[in-house]
Amino acid sequence: MITNVLVTGGTHGNELTGVNVVKHWEQIKPTLKLPQNTPSISCTITNSDAVKYRTRFIDQDLNRQFSLEKLALNENKSDELLCKEERLAQSLNKEIGPKSSPSYDLVIDFHNTTANLGPCLIILCKGEFEVSMARYVKSVMPSSVMLLENEKPYEDFPYLCTLGKHGVMIELGNQAHGVNDPSIYLNGLQLLQAILDFCRLYNENNLPALMPVECYHLTGEVKYPDGAMHEYMIHPDLFGHDFEELKSGDPCFISVDGETVQWEGNATFPHFIGEVAYQHLGMAFSTSDRILL
Ligand SMILES: [Zn+2]
Repeated sequence: MITNVLVTGGTHGNELTGVNVVKHWEQIKPTLKLPQNTPSISCTITNSDAVKYRTRFIDQDLNRQFSLEKLALNENKSDELLCKEERLAQSLNKEIGPKSSPSYDLVIDFHNTTANLGPCLIILCKGEFEVSMARYVKSVMPSSVMLLENEKPYEDFPYLCTLGKHGVMIELGNQAHGVNDPSIYLNGLQLLQAILDFCRLYNENNLPALMPVECYHLTGEVKYPDGAMHEYMIHPDLFGHDFEELKSGDPCFISVDGETVQWEGNATFPHFIGEVAYQHLGMAFSTSDRILL
């Protein structure tokens, strides 16, 4: 039973779709007549200072603060020893967690990416609930993309959404950080509605027959040939082509001198191609396999 859902935006303060989705829900909530068996829905902006300054974070990435280990490590430290987002993580863990014993059945955290991901639902485990959700959402919104990242146990992820018993991320792209693209916003609302409809049908034990759906399964990350030196770029044949197959021998990078670097690995489905927030790490894209989930 999913009795309560928390919708969060502004975990990265310059990713504005979630900020607007939260504003929208706060406005419509008082007049909303939700069907019976819909979970109660709360929403919150998680890093309001970062939103105010239109920046990803103030000191550190908030969406990397929620592993049980890090929460425990910082729990008894005095505030002056913690950075802004470490303090924020401690208070969010108290307000909307705690992660060790979640008070929300589902946390849906909104993100944007400069990469061409489309309306993407990221699930973090292959639990029955998550798999059914992915199948349902894909069936009612065929343009949505399912991405499975389960390289570690759910509890070990440092993501804010893992404060919920179940947690998912909505990753919407491509949208430049700090920009509000209205069609991306509408995609976000549609994806959220599909998840909420799923929760109601799940509660009623009334889901339609769900068939396995196409899903991308994260396998790794690829760095630029020169790390973060910025003498290489994503090849134009690859840039913007998230979730399209990249085969051995396909052009992958070009140097500032015009030299082409080919992909030498196994065939893969790249995504988060050129995401601007990862450029300082030298990360060019993530890789995935296409599976049926
Ligand atoms: Zn984000």
